[in-house]
Amino acid sequence: MNRGAIAEIDLSAIAHNLGTVRKIVRSRQVIAVVKADAYGHGAAAVSKKLVGEGVPYLAVAYISEARELREAGINVPIIVLFDHGDYEDIFDLDLIPVVHDIGAALSLSKAAIKKKALKKIHVKIDTGMGRLGLNGNRIADELVEISMMPGIELCGLLSHFSEADLADRSYALLQISRFNAVREAVSGKLGRKIFSHFANSAAVLSLEDAHFDAVRPGIVLYGYSPLARQTIPSSAFSAETDLIPAMTIKSKVLCIRNIPPGTPVSYGRTFVTKRKSRIGVISIGYADGYSRSFSNNAEILVRGKRAPVVGRVCMDLTMVDLTDIKSARENDEVVILGRQGDERITADELAVKAGTISYEVLTSMGGKSEKTYVENS
Ligand SMILES: *Cc1c(COP(=O)(O)O)cnc(C)c1O
Repeated sequence: MNRGAIAEIDLSAIAHNLGTVRKIVRSRQVIAVVKADAYGHGAAAVSKKLVGEGVPYLAVAYISEARELREAGINVPIIVLFDHGDYEDIFDLDLIPVVHDIGAALSLSKAAIKKKALKKIHVKIDTGMGRLGLNGNRIADELVEISMMPGIELCGLLSHFSEADLADRSYALLQISRFNAVREAVSGKLGRKIFSHFANSAAVLSLEDAHFDAVRPGIVLYGYSPLARQTIPSSAFSAETDLIPAMTIKSKVLCIRNIPPGTPVSYGRTFVTKRKSRIGVISIGYADGYSRSFSNNAEILVRGKRAPVVGRVCMDLTMVDLTDIKSARENDEVVILGRQGDERITADELAVKAGTISYEVLTSMGGKSEKTYVENS
């Protein structure tokens, strides 16, 4: 559906960012997180690129996302992080479910026996995220119980960080020590080590103790660092500056209007011209994921210059002040996110303006725009 806004995805940037992760984690495997349509970049195309680059595992949130990847011809193991509601699909699509409690393990075991199948599973433990996973003080015993259930094979152990992006490492280190305690107890009882993965992007960049056998990055693959600005350890910083954002959001100037001083622009008259003005009407709005909080509060690139958003962002349209960009013309291509000439608008810049994080900017805008794929870098 072409609404004007286009998300241009640079697949070579994603390959480059994968290379950056590999330089940091060396021999560890990379489980590429492609949930939420690869953070708005298009899961099928991004996954094909990553698999082509040798990524051994993909991770998604939901079974439906895994089904889309299988339908796109992707054959690598897919880890389903959150739902394991539909056991048929887990077997039919050959997925690796993440089990969060004993009950789910039992149901999978029963389903596997019925199917005369052996299902590989990974089990999540809650080390302090407070969301999903085995918790309490019987975790190691429960893992042993799960490992003995017929029809299932305990092949992986994982956990998830609550705040690995902060300069204060104490809570992340506490989570790692809890994870290590469970790993040791379980390997003692089972007499074998279990393949373990814990690190999200923040921990990939800044917490080597969390790299274990594999890492599980998302946002860095798309070219953004989750680390809090003022708190980046210097080693992480060089990797961080090496990342290349993969998404550009482009649209166009639908029309330009010449209006006198004192003219209100858009809903609610929150902007009134102070001078004779040229106002550009841009084909993007909150229905395209361009947040209404950018009203009077963001910039769009036109002819390589920053044009301020004026008035409220509408459902399908946004107005910008082009008075100082004399060369701007109707039908000009504009860049809402990404580079144009020497200027650049990042998802971090927009996130600060919208009071959110780059993840939400990417999933909102990328998720709603028609996508094209390029290999630029
Ligand atoms: C989203 C997610 C990741 C990836 O997080 P990033 O911060 O994007 O690297 C890893 N593990 C789990 C369980 C997740 O939900």
